[in-house]
Amino acid sequence: MTDRRAHGCTPQNNFVSSLIKLEHVSRTYALGRAGVQALRDISLQIASGEFVAILGASGSGKSTLMNLLGCLDRPTMGHYFLDGVDVADLDHDELADIRNAKIGFVFQSFNLLSRTSALQNVELPMLYSSTRLSGRARRKRARETLELVGLAGRADHHPNQLSGGEQQRVAIARAMANQPAVLLADEPTGNLDSRISAEIMTVFQSLNERGITIVMVTHELDIARYAKRNIVMRDGLVLKDTPVTDRLDSNEELRRWKETEAQSAMALT
Ligand code: ADP
Ligand code: MG
Repeated sequence: MTDRRAHGCTPQNNFVSSLIKLEHVSRTYALGRAGVQALRDISLQIASGEFVAILGASGSGKSTLMNLLGCLDRPTMGHYFLDGVDVADLDHDELADIRNAKIGFVFQSFNLLSRTSALQNVELPMLYSSTRLSGRARRKRARETLELVGLAGRADHHPNQLSGGEQQRVAIARAMANQPAVLLADEPTGNLDSRISAEIMTVFQSLNERGITIVMVTHELDIARYAKRNIVMRDGLVLKDTPVTDRLDSNEELRRWKETEAQSAMALT
């Protein structure tokens, strides 16, 4: 028997290889006689360092695609190569390993543990990592990661002592805890207003500037403009795949929000 992981981990070529490569991927859910074809023959590549937004109407296959990219699920047909490894070949345990090592997830609903501090929430994924860190090293990295998302002063707060935007930043820090190759976010601003969404996008844009690859699902065109590339899905197909030409700068947007707020505060006095 060949060792898939040893085989798969070696990049196949020495020019820039894609971090994510889908080849003729389909995903059919067994439902009724025909089944539901949630993804139909999708081929696409995402290189390291990209910031991609996935758009599309409800039911177009966005979450199905994210579940595949995040190794929570496998294609019914076709191949998914993550960092050169063919995910279709992996068994359940190997999927969990590659997920822990390479993927950070951010959800619409934050999913923080309510009875533990921000710091402990960020430490948690490190306990399940194959890189065994001492308690001290975990706390140090958790603090640094909270700093990265601008929450250095909130380490000891519990989720109910934090605003929605702050909770989502803790969730982003938690997703970054094991230093993943890619950050996957399904509607990360779905529960937040536009001002707070811009704040979250400052975190995403600064992480991306540090080289973190980000793939984010959103149904808001404005949020998609913070990314560098937009993929539009329809009926399980990629309808459009284009670079963002009118990109938004989150710091600039946030500055505008603050200006508007200052003006309305002045108007009140
Ligand atoms: P989106 O995230 O864009 O709203 P989904 O990927 O959730 O779309 O769904 C794509 C299609 O697959 C839809 O028609 C949906 O009803 C169907 N679907 C999603 N999950 C399942 C499932 N577990 N079983 C059966 N059908 C599903
Ligand atoms: Mg969805």
